[in-house]
Amino acid sequence: MSDVRQTSPELVLPAPKLPTVAVAGTTARLPVRRIICVARNYAAHAREMGRDPDREAPFFFFKPADTVVDNGSTGPYTPETKNFQYEIEVVVAIGAGGFDISVDRALDHVYGYAVGIDLTRRDLQLEARAQGRPWDWGKGFDLSAPISPVHRVEEVGHPAAGRLWLAVDGQVKQDSDISKLIWSVPEIISIASRSMELRPGDLIMTGTPEGVGPVERGQVMTGGVDGLAEIRIAVV
Ligand code: MN
Repeated sequence: MSDVRQTSPELVLPAPKLPTVAVAGTTARLPVRRIICVARNYAAHAREMGRDPDREAPFFFFKPADTVVDNGSTGPYTPETKNFQYEIEVVVAIGAGGFDISVDRALDHVYGYAVGIDLTRRDLQLEARAQGRPWDWGKGFDLSAPISPVHRVEEVGHPAAGRLWLAVDGQVKQDSDISKLIWSVPEIISIASRSMELRPGDLIMTGTPEGVGPVERGQVMTGGVDGLAEIRIAVV
């Protein structure tokens, strides 16, 4: 994350560093406002999590904006878990905001696409789920959102198909295709925007396919969407 930091006489503390992600093909960066995550958006993953994959209405959770991590980073094994897991996902960067966006117009609001890893403390998430508690401690911890450079729509269009994969130490663990999303990108944008106004810099992590699992200290995660973006993150 680049060190964009501001001080102001009107603020009693230094302003928090502005979270940003890289933009492919430029040294400029995209400011991150929020990270909206979609749960259970691939049928085979919903099944592996013990849930019915029918088109139940999508549901969402957040990661704080400052959990973003640049591609190529080395990060720590996160605290308070014994089951630190990867979830490879397509990430949508919102470039133009809106409220109650129609499915037909939804793609007009997209700045670009990336691939990201929804890092998860699975033990904490499942414990929270079982007790009807929020998922935040399982999902929204520091450094939980590695995101590749964002590829602009002018360069890559709006990919609706393409292999989505993740490997640990070169061994493929997740291998699916983004055409298998239960709720498409336009549908997700439209549905999310009915509940809250989307604004520039919002990132949407669109859900992970089957094959999620643990990563250990000393391992390297690589992943990508073929023809779009790749990511590499090491855990120490
Ligand atoms: Mn996820």
